[in-house]
Amino acid sequence: MSTSGQSNLLLADITIGIVGAGLAGLALALALRQMGFPSVKIFESSAGADAIAQSSDQLLELTANGSRVLHALGLETQLQANAICPGFAYLRTRRSGFLLVQRPLGDFSEARYGAPNYLIRCSQLRSLLERACVTRDVDIRYNTEIVDLQPHTGTLQPRNQPAESFSAIVVADGAEAGLHETICVEFAEQTPAAHSIRARCGIGTDNNAVSTWVDDQSYCVQYPVSEDMTELMLVYQDAQLTTAGANSPIEDADSPEQTLNQWIETGHPQLKKLIKHIVAVDRQAPRQGQVASHWHAGHVALLGDACHPMPGYEVQSANTALEDVWVLATMMERWEEAPHLGFSDYQRYRQPRMRKLVRQTARTTAELLNATPPEQFRRNFKWSVINRFLPEMSMAQWDWLYGYNCIKGFA
Ligand SMILES: Cc1cc2nc3c(=O)[nH]c(=O)nc-3n(C[C@H](O)[C@H](O)[C@H](O)COP(=O)(O)OP(=O)(O)OC[C@H]3O[C@@H](n4cnc5c(N)ncnc54)[C@H](O)[C@@H]3O)c2cc1C
Repeated sequence: MSTSGQSNLLLADITIGIVGAGLAGLALALALRQMGFPSVKIFESSAGADAIAQSSDQLLELTANGSRVLHALGLETQLQANAICPGFAYLRTRRSGFLLVQRPLGDFSEARYGAPNYLIRCSQLRSLLERACVTRDVDIRYNTEIVDLQPHTGTLQPRNQPAESFSAIVVADGAEAGLHETICVEFAEQTPAAHSIRARCGIGTDNNAVSTWVDDQSYCVQYPVSEDMTELMLVYQDAQLTTAGANSPIEDADSPEQTLNQWIETGHPQLKKLIKHIVAVDRQAPRQGQVASHWHAGHVALLGDACHPMPGYEVQSANTALEDVWVLATMMERWEEAPHLGFSDYQRYRQPRMRKLVRQTARTTAELLNATPPEQFRRNFKWSVINRFLPEMSMAQWDWLYGYNCIKGFA
């Protein structure tokens, strides 16, 4: 920040309002306080941390591009104490368990990308962020729904309370809420590429690895959560539920339980072992990855899922929201007394990367989900050959994603 007496006087008057105490809103508040902004206030419509935890307790996969931001926010020790650091990621075929790809995480990720992979519950990460916000004097107002905003005057209107004005406002209201539509009106209803189901199994797995089991037109990710908990995420094409073909593992299923059971029942013994221990299954709302064309207007910018909603199974929404946080806070800091002037650079740096991510993940999902048996054979052959004989090539294809180091610079 500027050290001139005049700037510091002006800086003392800067107020930042954030809508939404999700991961993105809380992490931004923390980053802004760390960068010296004196007054940061968060408005959250839910009743409190517990209410949010119940509605958003999914397991998050934090990859190096996201975890490095949390480290920069001073949360490294807390993450190490609360999260799991898986050692490997495996890709196997569903029925035989044949190993197609093996990717080291853990120390390898630290060495290659400078930050580890973590598995952590969304509620746990939220509470780590919330505690850090409270320590740094962020004002969090629960039970306060913002019903309107005026981008050009920087005014927020909470329900049944007087309007408040801010030097800059950031809307991090998530994918489903409507406030961000004031800035970006163009999110259209789209046919989602795939559907997903999450299940918890009351049994631990014996290795510290994230395993993905692939088949034709479906795949399942198995996360080791604790000694007595494994989590599964099944991703499949909806068409399978109604037009189950001869090769489809999923028959016409009414319930998520049935869909998952049918998939596992004919799978590898390691998968089958889990079936008796499934304790909870949730079907996730299907969503298509999208990137808004406008991320800011006047004194207001959008952040996280509010400007680039992604399906939960693509596991990059929280990571890219954290990237957004660092870039946005840095841009706001550059303009100091008029932080909203940094919004256009924030969009300029972030939007192309998000578009690339949506394109690339759509391609990977299509490769996993659209394979007919001959295509599946070709795909599996290609992956296992590259993994065995050209491991560096197999790693390098993801460097652009995990190696993104917004802390060092992002131009
Ligand atoms: C099953 C599942 C698994 C996932 N797994 C991963 C993963 O492995 N890795 C990953 O990176 N991402 C994952 N994600 C995505 C990740 O959880 C989200 O991207 C992330 O939580 C989004 O954070 P956010 O702060 O942008 O939005 P949210 O977490 O949705 O927060 C928005 C907040 O704004 C509040 N709000 C909304 N409207 C208003 C209003 N008008 N006034 C006041 N408050 C308001 C809401 O109550 C909410 O608390 C997963 C998602 C799901 C559903």
